[in-house]
Amino acid sequence: MKRICCVFAGVFALAALAVLAQAPQPAGQNVQAGQAEQNEQAAHHWSIVVHGGAGVIARTALGPKGDADYRASLAQAEAAGARVLDRGGSALDAVEAAIQVLEDDPLFNAGRGAVFTVEGKNELDSSIMDGSNLKAGAVAGVTRTRHPISLARAVMEKSPYVMLAGTGADAFAARVGLEQVDPSFFFTEARWQSLVKQLQKHGLPVPPRPVGAPPPPTSPAVPVAQIPLKFPVDESADAYVHGTVGAVALDRAGNIAAGTSTGGLQAKMPGRVGDSPIIGAGTYASNQSCAVSATGSGEYFIRLGVAREVCNLVAFKGMSLQQAADQVIHQELEALHGDGGIIAIAPDGQMVWSFNTPGMFRARQTEGGKVEIRIYSDEP
Ligand code: ASP
Repeated sequence: MKRICCVFAGVFALAALAVLAQAPQPAGQNVQAGQAEQNEQAAHHWSIVVHGGAGVIARTALGPKGDADYRASLAQAEAAGARVLDRGGSALDAVEAAIQVLEDDPLFNAGRGAVFTVEGKNELDSSIMDGSNLKAGAVAGVTRTRHPISLARAVMEKSPYVMLAGTGADAFAARVGLEQVDPSFFFTEARWQSLVKQLQKHGLPVPPRPVGAPPPPTSPAVPVAQIPLKFPVDESADAYVHGTVGAVALDRAGNIAAGTSTGGLQAKMPGRVGDSPIIGAGTYASNQSCAVSATGSGEYFIRLGVAREVCNLVAFKGMSLQQAADQVIHQELEALHGDGGIIAIAPDGQMVWSFNTPGMFRARQTEGGKVEIRIYSDEP
């Protein structure tokens, strides 16, 4: 047994060395391969759904400008994914491209604009899954990689592992040529003020302003989004500042994929990992059932294995995608008093969302159709 393990470990180590020698592959590079597939088989219309987090999002709090800004950002992410799919690219490439846009957008709690830990740092989590072969990659606690979603993909494609965490994950990113940034790159004034407010409210010490952050504004910063930052379910708990991002896509070859990226929960303990990088909880994709990206109070999503649970209901109980999504969010998650939502897609083109919060930033589009962008729960 011991010997088998050693042989196994040796094979893994060799595989790791081999993959480290490979050059980085930016999103969209598989377009040519996709084009060939498209010529052979154009049976599927592509579709893509993106989300930018679920939470207490009120029209009055967001205001007309906030509302318009978020819709414009969602449209941009959706368009980035749609462009990839429209030129015959893979669902995986589309998911990565859409999420990269949202990671760069300071409005969302992922990449630049991520929330801070109680110690005033940004620790980023992400995962991605390819429904055509059940390959998956994930990273947790990343602090220097500009696009955690691309690192999750690199773990999937260029390492023998599924998940890497912390400094080892960032070091791997550097080795495979992914863009590295100073941790202050992720800093935004709005998230910082939000952390300070929460810590002061709870009588907790406020950490020093991060090294490399711009000097504090002379007048108080207006938060980027005037979103009430608390989940009403537990006033005593730390604020759940949402804005996690995710995407699910179906390409013309009939393959589906899912990805998720987040800064996690505001004022989280250093080292805390939520559902977003957990395959089966925050992200899951299988061509046999569906692809899911989740957002919400991560501990509940982990305990329920939300993403996989939705796909299991489709695969084994014969539910429609909407029925499965609603069953998990409105029955199982609510029974535990968890909050949040999911987006999901199936190989036959079903695209759904389901959430139990007052709002969820979301958008979807099918080939030949219009982009639908929604924020509040009263929008269909
Ligand atoms: N699910 C994320 C986490 O728990 C947070 C979120 O979606 O807003 O880390």
